[in-house]
Amino acid sequence: MHTRDVVELDLNSVLLHQKSIVIDAHCDTLTAIEKQKRCLSVSTGIGQVDLPRLKRGGVNVQFFAVFVSPGSEKRVLERVMEVIAHFYREMAENAASIVPVFNYRTLAHGLAQGKIAALLAVEGGEVLAGRLGVLNSLYLMGVRSLTLTWNHRNELGDGIAVEQPGGLTKFGMAVVKEMNRLGMLVDVAHLAAPGFWDVLKTSRQPVIASHANSYTLCPHPRNLKNEQIKALAAGGGVMGLTFYPPFIHLDCPSLEKLLDHVDYIANLAGVDCIGLGSDFDGISEVIPELSDVSRLPAFTRGLLTRGYSKEAVKKILGDNLLRVLKTVIPS
Ligand SMILES: [Zn+2]
Repeated sequence: MHTRDVVELDLNSVLLHQKSIVIDAHCDTLTAIEKQKRCLSVSTGIGQVDLPRLKRGGVNVQFFAVFVSPGSEKRVLERVMEVIAHFYREMAENAASIVPVFNYRTLAHGLAQGKIAALLAVEGGEVLAGRLGVLNSLYLMGVRSLTLTWNHRNELGDGIAVEQPGGLTKFGMAVVKEMNRLGMLVDVAHLAAPGFWDVLKTSRQPVIASHANSYTLCPHPRNLKNEQIKALAAGGGVMGLTFYPPFIHLDCPSLEKLLDHVDYIANLAGVDCIGLGSDFDGISEVIPELSDVSRLPAFTRGLLTRGYSKEAVKKILGDNLLRVLKTVIPS
């Protein structure tokens, strides 16, 4: 490429990135900032997500996962309550630049004011302890997305680390139906294949796989197989491409290899099912081009280099997830 073309590409990609609604469907920042003794408002160089870097990365909607490792914490629900309280402390302290999402109206209003919209998500249905009432309470506390399982078995179903996994339990199916009724996103990331298929049969709403890539390109059990991707897309769902190197390529993960996932999934099922789910602050390694959330414009530049139309780029950056949010969460 000529220097002039490179400059033009840089400029175009920056402008397009700024104009787009950028949505990241997964980060583990809530638990990371606690462990690392930092807060959202200050960029310390530690971790991958904070407010200054979210702004530099052009992020408009950030999902914040409450993840409690089922093995290490006996009292999962208490711990989740504590992290949710921490979320709202951060929201209150930074109300000038970030707002929690309760429904589509609060999301749109926040964006119109130039603020980042924060969607509270819980990762791992063990928090429910087999009780639908807990789900209802989490909803009242502002949780709008639930990853049904982590890697292991819980009351809802089996995660990807379970040997000979089964599908959703009766309780798992009841949870999906209740989430549909309440207006919560059903997240199938980490769920084993039989459960995945049960969710698609049970849910009357599009579902998300908040952080997963293509299994064909990178055979990690957390990635989705072709038939899963096609079915997710056919139901109007979205998968958030994740930046964790072992999910991108087994030998040489890079931005180019991540873009290969975009190409592959777009050819397989169309661009409408592609979104972002970085997993920042939940991952121990990164690819150099996407070392933290402020580097996101590099991804947009990569999409343009590969010949994606502006419309397709905007869909991938956030419009697809926005479509699902608009459909699923209360208006
Ligand atoms: Zn995860």
